[in-house]
Amino acid sequence: MRSIFVALLLVLPFAQSSSVAAAPVDFGAACDSPVTNPDANAIVHEVFDVKTEELAKAGLLPPGFWERNKDYGFAICDNPGSYDANAIYGKGVMFDYGLVVFLFAQARALILGRYISAPRQFDVFTELVARFADQGPDTKMNPFQVLTESAVERGVSPEEVRKTVSDPAFQKREQTLMLVTMYFLSMHERCHIALDHGTRLAEINKLPEPERAKPKQDLEIEADRCALDIINKDESRFKSSPVSFFGVLVVIATQAVVSSRPALSRENSHPSTRARLKIAKARVLEFIGTPSTQAASNYAATISATADLFDTLLAKLEVAQ
Ligand SMILES: [Zn+2]
Repeated sequence: MRSIFVALLLVLPFAQSSSVAAAPVDFGAACDSPVTNPDANAIVHEVFDVKTEELAKAGLLPPGFWERNKDYGFAICDNPGSYDANAIYGKGVMFDYGLVVFLFAQARALILGRYISAPRQFDVFTELVARFADQGPDTKMNPFQVLTESAVERGVSPEEVRKTVSDPAFQKREQTLMLVTMYFLSMHERCHIALDHGTRLAEINKLPEPERAKPKQDLEIEADRCALDIINKDESRFKSSPVSFFGVLVVIATQAVVSSRPALSRENSHPSTRARLKIAKARVLEFIGTPSTQAASNYAATISATADLFDTLLAKLEVAQ
């Protein structure tokens, strides 16, 4: 997997800078196996640390956000069967290595699917997520192998897949998508910290077990909204097509899939929630507003279609349980 991260590093905006990640946070027993791969750590560092500080300097973070967050570092941990990111209050944010790799695979699946067939561009992605959701926590599925198999089933030879994914234009697109998924994920976790959800979580955990799910889900929706608002503010500076919103959809769908599969979830802190996806979709479309150009109109339609696709996928996985 190392070569994948090396390729990704080439497009990082600050890769040439002397910015080096601080030592990973020591999460003790909560981290089964700390991942020290410098390339994987450099990628998370660029988004989690460098990007957040850039937003703080540009005055794009909500009041108090940076103050509460500036001392928080991160660590990547190989916690088999976790596939999650967690804010550990008072310590830092823990990213599961399997999740980081899986997000990259999803970015590749979305771009590869588009190269294979524009009208059926989501097929490869859908197959990857469905097969991933079906695996047990101990299965060491290689998502990149699944992608190749899925492409072969659609009449593309392994050699063609290899050529396609080594094309610089392809790589640029998948890397951009990977970085925006990490961007949303980092902001979501930092929003939990900024909104002092640790205190509220302690209160929620005093409630009887059956009453905890709903207020926990509310915390997730608040963190999503906070992260979306930050991304929107950032994007509105450039008036670019908000590709970041694809990152939002990928992360929310991933967490919903993972949490809806008990085999993949250690604790049910991210309850299965198509509602969460629905709220995010509405928020994104609200940001785009009334499209004033053909490009904006196409963009809104694509976001809407993508959100609907993810919802269909989640509904199927729910039924399959
Ligand atoms: Zn969360």
